[in-house]
Amino acid sequence: MKLARLNNKAEIFYTVQGEGKNLGKPSIFLRTSLCNLHCIWCDTDYTWNWENTPFETTKNVKYRREEYIEELSPKEAAEIVMQYPCKHVVLTGGEPMMQQEALCEVIEYLKAQDDYTFEVETNGTLPPSERFDELVDQFNVSPKLANSNNSEKIREKPKALKHFSQSAKSNFKFVLSQEEDLNEILSLIEKYNINPAAVYLMPEGVSEVELKRKQSWLVEICKTHGFNYTDRLHIHIYGAKRGV
Ligand code: SF4
Repeated sequence: MKLARLNNKAEIFYTVQGEGKNLGKPSIFLRTSLCNLHCIWCDTDYTWNWENTPFETTKNVKYRREEYIEELSPKEAAEIVMQYPCKHVVLTGGEPMMQQEALCEVIEYLKAQDDYTFEVETNGTLPPSERFDELVDQFNVSPKLANSNNSEKIREKPKALKHFSQSAKSNFKFVLSQEEDLNEILSLIEKYNINPAAVYLMPEGVSEVELKRKQSWLVEICKTHGFNYTDRLHIHIYGAKRGV
């Protein structure tokens, strides 16, 4: 399987969940490489923004594919996870749903050792296989908006969104760059009949200053519509540092 590489190792690390429903929960993060979208503000673009590809981001940096991918077997990845004193794992990326079969093997291996639980962070464009759906405890679905600079055709996949909106395992996280993004979010919520109690709104930003600038109007939107506000805890603690 293809994992993101950090300091010549697979990006698997122990921290607290910084966003959404489980904010603050001690968790082991396993970051897969590769993504099927190309968000202009992506803060993990080292998982997909390779040299000689046409994609653009606000960072304006390209990455050498061979330097930023760590190839491991599912068993090797699972054994790294087992080195940490925690039984809750966040599968993130990139887009982890692109490597479901390998992740099923990671999960099955770990569940055979102990009572591990798993949440998956996904852009909501790829539905889970039956096997993956059964193994995962929680899906954090983050549909991308026009502000991501992905075309509607590639960022909105009705089959996947219908599946997630009907699943009790799903919660939805929307990233807002500006107040005007709300209309698009409301229309997605209505179109796919998403439960407002399962919706988390999060400010876009990779610095405390950027987050704070958006907090006050975002909290008011949450109060009006019965959504949850989520912060980006790791930005407050660590800034934009990787692997923490
Ligand atoms: S879906 Fe996520 S990982 Fe992929 S480009 Fe967008 S923000 Fe980055």
